[in-house]
Amino acid sequence: MKRSNSEKLYEKALEFFPGGVNSPVRAFKAVEGAPLFIKKGKGPYIWDEDENQFIDFCCSFGPHILGHNYPDVHQNIVDTLSNGTSFGAPTKLESELAELIISRNPYIDKMRFVSSGTEAVMSAIRLARGYTGRNKILKFEGCYHGHADSLLVNAGSGLATFGESSSAGVPENVVQDTIVIPLNDIEALELAFEKHADDLACVIIEPIPANNGLLLQERSFLLKLREICTANNVLLFFDEVISGFRVAFSGAAEYYDIEPDIVSYGKIIGGGLPVGAYGAKKHIMQSVSPDGPVYQAGTLSGNPVAMAAGIAQLTVCSQPGFYEDQEERTQTFVNSVNAHAKEKGYDFSLVTIGSIFWLAFSDSTTIRSASQIDADMTPFKKLHKALLERNVYVGPSGYEVGFVSYVHTKEILENAAQQFKNAMDEVFS
Ligand code: PMP
Repeated sequence: MKRSNSEKLYEKALEFFPGGVNSPVRAFKAVEGAPLFIKKGKGPYIWDEDENQFIDFCCSFGPHILGHNYPDVHQNIVDTLSNGTSFGAPTKLESELAELIISRNPYIDKMRFVSSGTEAVMSAIRLARGYTGRNKILKFEGCYHGHADSLLVNAGSGLATFGESSSAGVPENVVQDTIVIPLNDIEALELAFEKHADDLACVIIEPIPANNGLLLQERSFLLKLREICTANNVLLFFDEVISGFRVAFSGAAEYYDIEPDIVSYGKIIGGGLPVGAYGAKKHIMQSVSPDGPVYQAGTLSGNPVAMAAGIAQLTVCSQPGFYEDQEERTQTFVNSVNAHAKEKGYDFSLVTIGSIFWLAFSDSTTIRSASQIDADMTPFKKLHKALLERNVYVGPSGYEVGFVSYVHTKEILENAAQQFKNAMDEVFS
């Protein structure tokens, strides 16, 4: 595979950006070679600067549920753009997108648009603290919630202890109020509540943890969270930046039929432009400025071009049968790959939910917490290379999940499954 143009562009980018990139995972540190510089995307495909064409399963790490440059999304962006890009004043598009969402979502009455998933989660944590008057938050090992200081926290030693900062520059006193426990561990949860319930503002979880592999939780565990939060007046915060509009229109909350108190969204909500959002019931959202005392603002929040992209994208997602169709095509693809791996006895399988899948190299049926993930990424590295050589692009880290879009048709997925099989045969046999 020719990569000389990407290599040259990477050399240049290294002069300007740490690691040559503007977000770390893009740097291909976990896999071989220079990162591919992408020139364009159309439908399920992307093309790099060396004119290589790939079936794209990264989909910008999730936003492109309709594939790249979906005609309605493209057109709505262009039409809106011709009227200008940003005014620092309200536009009707913000209410249009909010109505499209809230009218179909039983969990939130009001919302606020921001510009990224990180901003959504950070703001919603402030809201949880402001609303409850409590400072501590509880999160789970293996869940990623963006890069706000109080969430860059690893589990400390022992159960239900305070976490340790996972990044230089995050002072220990900032993470002192973050408690970290393992996923899918009711004992640790109960212990944390015994010790800290009176000080807890919220429990935050990715209900479908998808940032350290796909650590699917049992519904009973999520229900237990709901129960224990309700019993202790602690807010349950579902971070649905990945799962929102991905596994169902109203995300994992709808998929599992469990009601959170606060929700954050990102990625799909903006049709590929920078948008995030958080929402809750009216009595909670009333605490947000200017109605209430919790300050939160943004120069580009509710940006009209981004709203236009989101409106066009979510209009398609809201069609009847959209999510069933997504899941069915993904399942067929996954089953085909997994049958081959099983037949050949490879220690590999795809784990899936909705239109998300993950390349798992250990016993996937038991993986429910981050501590169980095999840290040896050598097989992923080899498979990633073998897939690129067969024109299939997955994110350049074994901890990232893959995404199937509306325009990854059955035929394209059949082809992709064949390429996965060929790549597996090369790497594992
Ligand atoms: N929460 C979750 C669950 C995420 O997956 C991400 C990003 N992958 C974020 C928050 C942060 O979103 P952003 O990268 O848009 O800041």
